[in-house]
Amino acid sequence: MDLDFSPAERDFRAEVRAWLSTYAPGPLPSMDTPDGFEAHRAWEAKLAGARLSVVSWPDEYGGRGASLIEWLIFEEEYWAAGAPARVTQNGIFLLAPSLMRFGTPEQRARWLPRMASGADVWAQAWSEPEAGSDLAALTSRAEPAPGGWRLYGHKTWSSRAAYATHGFGLFRTSGARHKGLTYFLFPLDDVAVRPIAQLDGLPGFAELHFDGVFVPESMVLGEAGQGWRIAMATTSSERGLALRSPGRFLATADRLVRLARGADPALADRAARCWAEAEAYRLHTFGTARRIMAGEDLGSAASLGKIFWSELDLRMHALAMELLGERAGETDWLDGFLFALAGPIYAGTNEIQRTIVAERVLGLPR
Ligand SMILES: Cc1cc2nc3c(=O)[nH]c(=O)nc-3n(C[C@H](O)[C@H](O)[C@H](O)COP(=O)(O)OP(=O)(O)OC[C@H]3O[C@@H](n4cnc5c(N)ncnc54)[C@H](O)[C@@H]3O)c2cc1C
Repeated sequence: MDLDFSPAERDFRAEVRAWLSTYAPGPLPSMDTPDGFEAHRAWEAKLAGARLSVVSWPDEYGGRGASLIEWLIFEEEYWAAGAPARVTQNGIFLLAPSLMRFGTPEQRARWLPRMASGADVWAQAWSEPEAGSDLAALTSRAEPAPGGWRLYGHKTWSSRAAYATHGFGLFRTSGARHKGLTYFLFPLDDVAVRPIAQLDGLPGFAELHFDGVFVPESMVLGEAGQGWRIAMATTSSERGLALRSPGRFLATADRLVRLARGADPALADRAARCWAEAEAYRLHTFGTARRIMAGEDLGSAASLGKIFWSELDLRMHALAMELLGERAGETDWLDGFLFALAGPIYAGTNEIQRTIVAERVLGLPR
């Protein structure tokens, strides 16, 4: 494989680096506060103004038609510049790929540009109190109504739903288990949103209660009953490339190596090892991107990446805690550590991912 970047890719990197060095803000207040949420949204609008918020999307939706490789380059530069985490991430990384593949032209034109600019912020509403790992056990339902559907039920752990404008989720329209699920888009205005406080006391998630919320037919993604297939396409984006690109972990590894300078050699060795692992993930991902660009489907192999990045992130932050000792609370490493603890849980727990790898990638018996 050719590991060199093309002249166009190098130019693209230089352009992104120059723009970010001028415009990337310093740390913003937490996006789990009303002010922080708005500050993040304003930053996304600025990114979108430079056509840098969704570089790999087609021009008509606010992107610039960049290749997957260029997107990975963008991400490396973004995180290296210390730019803020994306408040739009569940929309742009999880819903958008499904909208592009399964949405009507009207749905794409209506929702994608507003998502790209942060005008709409989307929350993922899949999990329910009794349906997390076993998502097909979900009981929220939709009933036909003139011109559309009425939604009933209870969703939970919906990240950023405390302040988001819209949600996307699965509701049962017929049948049992994976059959008869339908993928709905909905504004959060008429949904009862109950914020859930995280360890730090801020409402990083919310519960959503639906008591006959009306959604028009135009808010169904794909056909009624096709929800599981569409959702599985979305989980592949979530676990695979999109949600957590290597750039994020490379930036953490660089900071970790700086933190470990002059430390006990055994700890410094562990930092070096983390850096090498982040670099290995980067090279592996460029390989994956080339395969996808050649028409291969990532499929269940996405689970391998999810296990690797979530466990690496936790190792890096745990090591930072050891290096900092009681000083940890004075740095943003502590917040990072608390969030890294959740990595093996969200986007499908690592126990479930290991089963997927065993059965569908390695072909081991069930
Ligand atoms: C930070 C964070 C953000 C999240 N954001 C969202 C969001 O935006 N939208 C959303 O819908 N959800 C979100 N979630 C919820 C997340 O998807 C679920 O927590 C996850 O799918 C696990 O479901 P559960 O919590 O019900 O745990 P359970 O499914 O009850 O699992 C409990 C434990 O049992 C294990 N387990 C369960 N079944 C099996 C099995 N068959 N084999 C082996 N082990 C098993 C699990 O691995 C886990 O360790 C988020 C979670 C976190 C932590």
